[in-house]
Amino acid sequence: MAVRVIKEKCKGCGKCKKVCPFEAITIENKIAIIGDGCTNCGQCVESCKFDAIEQDKDETKVDLSAYKGVWVFAEQRAGVITPVVIELLGEGRKLADAIGTELCAILCGDDVEKLTKDLIAYGADKVYLAEAPELKDYNTDAYSKVIYDAIDKYKPEVVLYGATHIGRDLAPCLAVKAATGLTADCTVLEIDPEDKKIKQTRPAFGGNLMATIVCPKTRPQMSTVRPGVMAKAEYDKKHKGEVIKLKVKFGKNDIRTKVLEIVKSKGNKVSLTDADVIVAGGLGIGSKDGFKLLKKLADKLGGTIAATRACVDAGWIDHAYQVGQTGTTVKPKIYFACGISGAIQHVAGMQNSDIIIAINKNEAAPIFEVADYGIVGDLHKVIPEILEALK
Ligand code: FAD
Ligand code: SF4
Ligand code: SF4
Repeated sequence: MAVRVIKEKCKGCGKCKKVCPFEAITIENKIAIIGDGCTNCGQCVESCKFDAIEQDKDETKVDLSAYKGVWVFAEQRAGVITPVVIELLGEGRKLADAIGTELCAILCGDDVEKLTKDLIAYGADKVYLAEAPELKDYNTDAYSKVIYDAIDKYKPEVVLYGATHIGRDLAPCLAVKAATGLTADCTVLEIDPEDKKIKQTRPAFGGNLMATIVCPKTRPQMSTVRPGVMAKAEYDKKHKGEVIKLKVKFGKNDIRTKVLEIVKSKGNKVSLTDADVIVAGGLGIGSKDGFKLLKKLADKLGGTIAATRACVDAGWIDHAYQVGQTGTTVKPKIYFACGISGAIQHVAGMQNSDIIIAINKNEAAPIFEVADYGIVGDLHKVIPEILEALK
């Protein structure tokens, strides 16, 4: 327990019990008892007038000034950099410039040195490169060991990961190893140039609130960032950077799992994050067949169809097409929202689209609040008219 009550000093006044946001304190025999629900937040320590509560200061001993640089985990699959890395380099550059530090990428794999050129062109001042046969395919033990060793040695101030399946597995593991905080699924990052704390914003309570989280006492500050939310870095062939090769050595027991085979999903392939035009449908399309009309428009504009969760839940379309908080976050040039009410959980996944065109027969539908162009009408009439006009 990192928070303790000094029994000799405690008067049993109960003030700490009142301030504890986690209801972790009980008063027994006029002494405060701290229970298992304690998160070590420290609020009770400050509330006690009698200095009867003490908190381990180990955490606060971290020398924050020893940490420098913004790092991006350069996730690659089969030797190809995942698109979110380019978005993270764009965002990382902003953060690094705001606090006058360098932007670095950390790349793991086997025979992936050729990718360092692109990472540098996308803005990395340094690329930490770890190559070994054990790193060819993602493996939690292998990747977390190598990256943790690098974090321990080079002490980055910030580490960003894509909120991909790999990023969501790796980042918590590293946060525990590095004894620091992690904010998952961020949609906005801002940095205070003075104290260098990142304000990490993410949806909370089912998307009904946006929470902004800071990591005040430990380093590195770590975030996973939703793909498709941040603007991509520009490719600049002239940008110069340095490649630092990391020594990689695994002990017999370092890697506990082995990838035997990678089996590609047979399901429909859809890349919503790369689409320039998305024609998305909600329950207002009426039935599964409604997507046929949407597909005509999408095909005409060289785009793809997408859907709300309500359509996925109704069994009209595969989850791979779902946009929103529990689906994919998208940022196309044009997003058509057809028969979509505009629930906050849907809007969270498409509000950063360049142009939003909403078609809805209810003029009071919340989707019109985020739309650049709103068409009030029956989509079964409006879309054929758009198709006709496009001819
Ligand atoms: P509805 O809300 O029923 O809206 C249908 C709209 O169609 C209405 O506005 C209606 O006016 C209009 N309409 C009807 N007929 C026509 C017509 N002929 N022409 C034009 N307009 C018409 N939702 C997501 O989409 N993505 C998510 O990732 C997601 N995650 C969620 C996570 C949580 C934890 C929760 C609680 C919910 C989540 N949801 C998500 C669900 C979300 O809250 C909404 O229920 C859902 O987005 C509503 O889908 P919809 O707009 O298709 O349906
Ligand atoms: Fe004891 Fe201090 Fe809590 Fe009062 S506030 S019950 S004195 S620990
Ligand atoms: Fe409650 Fe925070 Fe005190 Fe723990 S440290 S007992 S969570 S107020």
